[in-house]
Amino acid sequence: MKKVAVYPGSFDPITLGHVDIVERLSKIFDQVIVLVAESPRKTHLFSPEERQQMVRQSFQQKNVEVDIFEGLTVDYLRKVNAQVIVRGLRAVVDFEYEMTMANMNKKLAPQIETLLVCASPEYYYISSRGVKEVALNRGSLKGLVPDHVIDFLNKKLQNG
Ligand code: ADP
Repeated sequence: MKKVAVYPGSFDPITLGHVDIVERLSKIFDQVIVLVAESPRKTHLFSPEERQQMVRQSFQQKNVEVDIFEGLTVDYLRKVNAQVIVRGLRAVVDFEYEMTMANMNKKLAPQIETLLVCASPEYYYISSRGVKEVALNRGSLKGLVPDHVIDFLNKKLQNG
């Protein structure tokens, strides 16, 4: 059976922390799907399509795909026949939230596993929110996001 991992998130925008997680997963799983969550209740800087485009341009690996989905992550996994949800863990503050979500997903879909992957030490402090704050205040984004994301951010902030 093909081992498929789904990595859901906002990716508003994708950071080098996210890229690192996906690269590590792509070596373990047959297929990795980065799932850009479309949630009308959350406000994002980028549209789902823009976020998908930025994610897509971050990977060359043949076994990495990007999709957009609105709804429960477990329903997406059932749709594509995937077995594992992956989330990243940075600091302790991530833990409670991720644990609660993993348990909720276990309740909804007992056959689906959540895998919590520790952020690498060189990226653990990077968040999309922090990146947007730096971009808004014209700080250097080198080493925080892929180069093409810097261009996306600059364009977005110029055009409002
Ligand atoms: P969400 O809004 O769903 O938390 P994010 O795009 O912020 O979406 O994050 C998606 C996932 O990636 C989350 O599990 C988050 O903990 C993880 N993540 C975010 N930044 C990093 C990082 N620097 N290193 C590793 N994992 C990260």
